[in-house]
Amino acid sequence: MTWEVVIGLEIHVQLNTKSKIFSGSDTTFGAEPNTQASLIDLGMPGVLPVLNKGAVRNAVKFGLGINAELGRKNVFARKNYFYPDLPKGYQISQMELPIVGKGFIDIELEGEKAGDVKIKRVNITRAHLEEDAGKSLHEDFSGMTGIDLNRAGTPLLEIVSEPDMRSAKEAVAYAKAIHALIRYLDISDGNMAEGSMRCDCNVSIRQKGEEKFGTRREIKNVNSFKFIEKAINSEIEWQIDEIESGRKIEQATVLYNPDTNKTRAMRSKEEANDYRYFPDPDLLPVVLDEALIEEIRASLPELPGAKRERFIAQYSLPEYDAGILSADRVLADFFEATVSAANGAAKQASNWVMMDILGALNRTETDINASPVSPAQLGGLILRINDNTISGKIGKQVFQALWDGEGATADEVIAKKGLKQESDSGALEAIIDKVLTDNPQQVENYRAATEEKRPKMFGFFVGQAMKLSQGKANPAQLNELLQKKLG
Ligand code: ADP
Ligand code: MG
Repeated sequence: MTWEVVIGLEIHVQLNTKSKIFSGSDTTFGAEPNTQASLIDLGMPGVLPVLNKGAVRNAVKFGLGINAELGRKNVFARKNYFYPDLPKGYQISQMELPIVGKGFIDIELEGEKAGDVKIKRVNITRAHLEEDAGKSLHEDFSGMTGIDLNRAGTPLLEIVSEPDMRSAKEAVAYAKAIHALIRYLDISDGNMAEGSMRCDCNVSIRQKGEEKFGTRREIKNVNSFKFIEKAINSEIEWQIDEIESGRKIEQATVLYNPDTNKTRAMRSKEEANDYRYFPDPDLLPVVLDEALIEEIRASLPELPGAKRERFIAQYSLPEYDAGILSADRVLADFFEATVSAANGAAKQASNWVMMDILGALNRTETDINASPVSPAQLGGLILRINDNTISGKIGKQVFQALWDGEGATADEVIAKKGLKQESDSGALEAIIDKVLTDNPQQVENYRAATEEKRPKMFGFFVGQAMKLSQGKANPAQLNELLQKKLG
């Protein structure tokens, strides 16, 4: 049987306002437990919530970023449920009239051939504002549960996608596109490890060709791209196995355990009407006015999709490069600054940024903002390769030296370490002569060899001469002189 996978994501994004969505409490991450929860966050009798305008602006930005219809009239509703980390007994959210309506985002997928890129449009059903609950702490409290209410009332935007994804890879690409967008829009830091972006993954399977969706299970609170992929794949395997063993999937909320790579049912799925949603009587409906929307629209930065297209058009970059470099705003700026420092050598700048900068950042677990090599330094290095001061290979050495802080510029490193390429033909000839006299047998063999065998044997002499020059011989010149001498 061939199964088709159907996935829809609900992504909670923590908005980066300084204070909470309905109170003035601080939202900074990592404070001592229960030092940032006010009476309003706890919903004490007699207090009144006041909506944070910054949260509304952030939501509007997001709506414009996904070309959505914006909800002109916004109503906040109470979602009633009991949980120890929700002392109020209800969460303020939006139900019927969310701030962001239908929109879409384009995601990037691998094409048929390696390096090919395919674009797929994922529809977004809605996005609404709500407050976060507190946090139950199980570690460090043996036999008990600690409650930290610092997070209560933190502004969230819940982004609900249509069930448009067809594989775990597509779900990850979608989550990455949302992540890039919220960072571009500067509405959230998107820090998944700190819980600023959390994904609920709804997964079902159906027979290929079937129109009706299968029953879904929802994997709660997945907090890394890697786990999104693994959790969904393990859930798919489980569902296929269940159905093929003659059992039925029951709608449920499940948790993913990275240690066992398994999903486990937490509770059967509740229905919306279990929550007894009703409009919050403490909050007036919010009507967005056109002037505010237009003001925000005018302030939007260039977004990832547009930047990607521009990188292809303006710098003739392959789609693959353009996709990677535009995925993060800081990285994109880094790349463009490198291009201009390198006199417009865009493809080279792209290679160095993608391979060397990203590689080194990865290895040293450093953020691009803290890259020890700046765009100006990298651009300066590329210039020296292009004007033949150094070879590409020596360039790697210079890069490492810059990374290690052994010089302020490529020029300084080259001078200090004596890495300048040897282009003086007299000096090169002397090197070649030495190689030839040191290896008489190889010279004889070469001269006696057929045309076919020669190129490989030629490589030997190039290697020896390079070694003798400590990698500094100008390769093109070395080749030419060697050809001449060997005859
Ligand atoms: P709820 O509010 O109960 O969580 P929704 O209908 O709002 O349910 O859907 C939540 C998410 O589940 C959406 O992202 C939607 O795309 C996705 N979804 C709905 N039905 C399915 C299905 N059969 N398979 C996979 N995902 C689904
Ligand atoms: Mg839901």
